Amino acid sequence: MKALVVHGGCDEGFLPDEEKRARLSGVRDAFQKGLLILKDMDSALDAVEHVIKDLENNPHFDAGVIGSFNNMIGEIEMDAAIMDSNESAGGVIRIRNIAHPISVARKVMEEMPHLLLCGKGAEIFARISGFREISPEEQHGNVDQREINKLPEEFRNFILEYTERLKEHKLFSTVGAVAIDSKGYIVAGTSTGGIAKAFPGRVGDSAIIGAGTFATFYGGSSATGIGEGIIRVGVTRKVVDMVENGTPIQEACSKVVDICSRRGFPCGVIALDRDGNAGISHNGHFMPTLSIKLD
Ligand code: ASP
Repeated sequence: MKALVVHGGCDEGFLPDEEKRARLSGVRDAFQKGLLILKDMDSALDAVEHVIKDLENNPHFDAGVIGSFNNMIGEIEMDAAIMDSNESAGGVIRIRNIAHPISVARKVMEEMPHLLLCGKGAEIFARISGFREISPEEQHGNVDQREINKLPEEFRNFILEYTERLKEHKLFSTVGAVAIDSKGYIVAGTSTGGIAKAFPGRVGDSAIIGAGTFATFYGGSSATGIGEGIIRVGVTRKVVDMVENGTPIQEACSKVVDICSRRGFPCGVIALDRDGNAGISHNGHFMPTLSIKLD
């Protein structure tokens, strides 16, 4: 048995039909590629990495250097993490100028004694691991020195405006995937450019183990939505823990999303259990997802 589930973010705000179609077809394309890898190579790890790499290349998603949101000073800072059913995990936080943060996260999992690398350290690790640095021309966001200079005076306004903006701007297109291969090996991964116009250095949930990404022997899960809420609730860990305690996977996803709804923030979650059953739930208007179980 093998299974795969993919998401392209959970939107709560208004999204034009054209954009919805683009996201659905982006998820479909990435899903098909991941499925081929799962079928041919029987590797949950390769399937998850390739699905997410494909979505990181797609300008319709908030991941990678092409589609990620810019922060308040015009920069792209990305987070990604991957975790497997042996509880090995790797993640990068606030990495810049690298096309595929998910691949760097995988390298951290496979080669580092550490779990998470952030900022400059993540970038140095990516460089010495042979990942190509993306030039400013190849990506859409670059730091604007004038914006940095304005930071101290705009700081108070930022706090007020940001809270307001979060209420209006509820578009989330972080990407994630979970797969299980015939060896029963489960892998979950998530990649994001965070939330638009965030304060530089903000860390969302995606690379936080147990918040945006989590896997154990019992299942794997990836989340999207407002990171600050997802971290507090520990969304993906909660889903997998509930499954471990006997809750069916769909019910676990729905119950955890209900908790998020009660706390008043948008959240979407996907998950797979050991038997390849998928759970998908969100409290937004639109969340492109696809899942399959192969016997
Ligand atoms: N969860 C992401 C973050 O807070 C945003 C998203 O899901 O699109 O960084």
